[in-house]
Amino acid sequence: PGTLHVVATPIGNLGDLSPRALATLRTVAAVCAEDTRHTRQLLAHFGLERPLVALHQHNEDAQAAQLVARLQAGESLALVSDAGTPLVSDPGFRVVRAARAAGIKVSPVPGACAAIAALSVAGLPSDRFAFEGFLPAKVSARRERLSRLAAEPRTLLFYESAHRIDEALEDMATAFGSQRPAVLARELTKLFETVLDGTLAELLAKVQADPNQRKGEFVVMVEGAGDDADARLVEGKRLYAKLAEHLP
Ligand code: SAM
Repeated sequence: PGTLHVVATPIGNLGDLSPRALATLRTVAAVCAEDTRHTRQLLAHFGLERPLVALHQHNEDAQAAQLVARLQAGESLALVSDAGTPLVSDPGFRVVRAARAAGIKVSPVPGACAAIAALSVAGLPSDRFAFEGFLPAKVSARRERLSRLAAEPRTLLFYESAHRIDEALEDMATAFGSQRPAVLARELTKLFETVLDGTLAELLAKVQADPNQRKGEFVVMVEGAGDDADARLVEGKRLYAKLAEHLP
């Protein structure tokens, strides 16, 4: 059988596509991509042209069986997403699981990942961290998710897009306390790369004061809750707030 290569692509700066990623993309029978137009452009930039297979949320299950059949027939394939590492808040999980279940070799070509790049420059404790991906879009679900994380001692990592960054920071300040240290990494590896640190209140103020700071792609990192006592206090406050909703 062939191999399924899971290949990381740049998160902005095209110089971050590794030589091994290029060599792999050059030799596979086809490249499974989240957005084939986007990936065709990336490949064209490097003078490559490969057959592309569209793989996204809505067809991943159906595609998985076909891709496994091709791998079993001896073809090697690459899996990429629009940016960074596939499967990290991106499609690919179902295909990888199906390939592994079928005994196919799945091999990584590691590279850029916004969460890890952000953590590496944040200066927040990085020995343990929790990647939370995107928060729910609905306000109530988002607040509920955040309040459950208030006592989490590990550094928290979130992905956020431009149109909700201030709302997200506001809800984080409410859930974690406005004085909790945090770092905002924006447009990493791109022209307007910015890494801001401060309390959640300070970061919110900076973002609200300058519309430019609300543009682009973000990783929001929040220091974990202090010691156990603090964590219990926060959890206590959270429960109290929940109870208070039901009190006359
Ligand atoms: N698979 C990607 C990875 O490995 O990081 C993540 C894909 S996810 C759909 C896109 C989100 O990643 C953005 O909304 C943003 O939160 C984050 N992101 C991607 N590129 C970024 C960058 N250059 N700077 C900061 N955050 C970025």
